[in-house]
Amino acid sequence: MSEAAGETRLEVKQASKEAKESENVAEKYSAMTVSKNSDLNMGELSSVFSAVPTHKPVKKQIQFVEDKQEFSRFPTKTARRSLSRSISQSSTDSYSSAASYSDSSDDETSPRDKTQVNSKGSSDFCVKNIKQVEFGRREIEIAEQDMSALISLRKRAQSEKPLAGAKIVGCTHITAQTAVLIETLVALGAQCRWAACNIYSTQNEVAAALSETGVAVFAWKGESEDDFWWCIDRCVNTEGWQPNMILDDGGDLTHWVYKKYPNVFKKIRGIVEESVTGVHRLYQLSKAGKLCVPAMNVNDSVTKQKFDNLYCCRESILDGLKRTTDVMFGGKQVVVCGYGEVGKGCCAALKALGAVVYVTEIDPICALQACMDGFRVMKLNEVIRHVDIIITCTGNKNVVTRDQLDRMKNGSIVCNMGHSNTEIDVASLRTPELTWERVRPQVDHIIWPDGKRVILLAEGRLLNLSCSTVPTFVLSITATTQALALIELYNAPEGRYKKDVYLLPKKMDEYVASLHLTTFDAHLTELNDEQAKYLGLNKNGPFKPNYYRY
Ligand code: NAD
Repeated sequence: MSEAAGETRLEVKQASKEAKESENVAEKYSAMTVSKNSDLNMGELSSVFSAVPTHKPVKKQIQFVEDKQEFSRFPTKTARRSLSRSISQSSTDSYSSAASYSDSSDDETSPRDKTQVNSKGSSDFCVKNIKQVEFGRREIEIAEQDMSALISLRKRAQSEKPLAGAKIVGCTHITAQTAVLIETLVALGAQCRWAACNIYSTQNEVAAALSETGVAVFAWKGESEDDFWWCIDRCVNTEGWQPNMILDDGGDLTHWVYKKYPNVFKKIRGIVEESVTGVHRLYQLSKAGKLCVPAMNVNDSVTKQKFDNLYCCRESILDGLKRTTDVMFGGKQVVVCGYGEVGKGCCAALKALGAVVYVTEIDPICALQACMDGFRVMKLNEVIRHVDIIITCTGNKNVVTRDQLDRMKNGSIVCNMGHSNTEIDVASLRTPELTWERVRPQVDHIIWPDGKRVILLAEGRLLNLSCSTVPTFVLSITATTQALALIELYNAPEGRYKKDVYLLPKKMDEYVASLHLTTFDAHLTELNDEQAKYLGLNKNGPFKPNYYRY
């Protein structure tokens, strides 16, 4: 038997064992399901988890094209000059232009050089302008309106305070949506200190509003790379406060603690990581035997991957293209490279607006899916001369080469929705014979010697994160998953999780989904006893085995 076959058999065995054990706890869990309309009881949540077996790490190989950094290669404080080379991709892929409606004040003073005090007399924060509190509060209130599931988790659990005593240090985008998450964690009992995972994405007014409520925020839009690490450091390195939980997006905070304050891990109960990059680093650490606390991989939760990647991109691809180019989609010929979750979302949106969509794929299964969905699967070289728009969604590198860019027609648009800015070979466009002309922020005309112009968006970085906003509702799903992962890791009895990377139990994924169903007044069908027996399921879930693909 091959090693791979052995592994598969093992996984199936493990999955059926987990399904059986889950049945034993299902009765307890059923009290929590939304379909029964009962309140979430965090005590029950905890006891459910104590009976749910720990999950082994996903055996998923995540390919990285660009980010080969290891924790050990990150900069130290003494090597600040090298920070610009070491700052991670995620910290520079931005939500910049549109996500923040922040002040246009020309106050050039670095927040680090200002002394600011909130209305309670605290100066334990560093933001652009503490006077923007009211503006920030209004932004948070708008976000709350489309994050009702997270708010309902807040309401259901705040009397139980499942995070009482939790000291969470976080490093995520600091936007109105994240503020709703942070304020939920505080309502559940946690103390929080927060830095931005991206130097461009902070909504200054939101950072001010959070600082006013007592959350120690160290972040502003347009941080330098030195500021970036300084902010993270101020969150971790403070007198009389030591974190016991980490919530990270991109792995930079986790890295910093590893490099600078390894002793802090003696108190840390767990790390919750959201991004592909950060999760990859955690698996590397785990493989090297260097992971010293349990970690939750939120990125691979079904409720993250199937919603953020697919539905978020389905909406934001159009938003990003419209804001930057005012393009009309009807009748346009578009090629989407990669028909994974992101590609599927982009194709569906473009097709709905009347674009003629081609797909390129390397994987016959995804290619067949594209065919069955009504798209022409072609090689890029076959369509390059007549398409109006190219969108890359592969997570791969050099998917669009200089040679292909040379053959695109005048006025065509090229952009990327994948993780790294190497999907389009942008570096090859920085040659003397081509002229770069900045049209708008994030929009460049690349002009060939014969006058041909190609429009390059966001210099090949993630289009939606750079040029548009991300739908709040999708962020609510991810934020609810993060909150539950924190609650689970913080409350887990010793020994439930080892020093490894885990997925949230499937029941929690289902719970996150059911919380969000309420928004749509969706009515779930309940299995009757006979049906449950026939399918071999517990009436309260989980409803699918771990290997189910959705
Ligand atoms: P996926 O693995 O489901 O899909 C990628 C697809 O690209 C695969 O089907 C693969 O076969 C195909 N592919 C690889 N190389 C190719 C090539 N040279 N030509 C054509 N096809 C190729 O991944 P996904 O979930 O769709 O994510 C894709 C990328 O988007 C990742 O880098 C991910 O990090 C990123 N992402 C972006 C957003 C966003 O908001 N923009 C959200 C989630 C994920």
